[in-house]
Amino acid sequence: MTKKQKYDFIIATNNEHKLGEIRAVLSSVGCGARSLRESGIEADPEENGATFSRNARIKAEAVFKAAGGRFAVLADDSGLCVDFLGGRPGVHTARYAGEHGDSEKNMDKLLAELKDVPQNERSARFVSCVCALLPSGEELRATGFVEGYIGFEREGAGGFGYDPVFRLPNKVGIATLSDERKNAISHRGRALRKLAFKLRGIKRIKGYRP
Ligand code: IMP
Repeated sequence: MTKKQKYDFIIATNNEHKLGEIRAVLSSVGCGARSLRESGIEADPEENGATFSRNARIKAEAVFKAAGGRFAVLADDSGLCVDFLGGRPGVHTARYAGEHGDSEKNMDKLLAELKDVPQNERSARFVSCVCALLPSGEELRATGFVEGYIGFEREGAGGFGYDPVFRLPNKVGIATLSDERKNAISHRGRALRKLAFKLRGIKRIKGYRP
């Protein structure tokens, strides 16, 4: 760990896009981030929780245990909630069209379901719950949201997952933003910055040293 990096997390994901976003935000608040691969850890727990928060905890705990409880671990569980669909896809976001992580099929399914739905009824939000487990035994969680709506077609080539169909309230497609701009406003960026704030509190109040 460099002097500036106060925490060096193992990130409980194999999703390169997520990892890139998490690494960028954590480094901006002075924390390091290593992937599962870089850490030599294999963990693929069943994400069977009913909430994003529960699933983030399931992922964090699996990696924490696999790493012998000696390293700080951070997991994110995230997804898309569409009001017209009663909050779906929700915790099933990654496997909405059946196959885990097939973003093209997931977006096709979503656009088909919203085919005749007018713009003012297409409101949606991305949600990210992050969970950090620290070797001190502390557990921290934070949630971030980005509000918007589902467009009528894909737009932009940036980001990942459902980004091409997500529009911000000002009609800008989130997949048209630079990585830096997306991290500044994204659900995950917001959750991570809240978590970083809580981490500073732990260090000050409880004398935790990673
Ligand atoms: P998880 O890896 O189980 O948390 O699944 C999250 C799923 O939500 C991903 O597979 C994406 O489809 C979607 N998702 C999460 N964050 C974003 C984002 O920032 N942009 C687009 N899609 C996202």
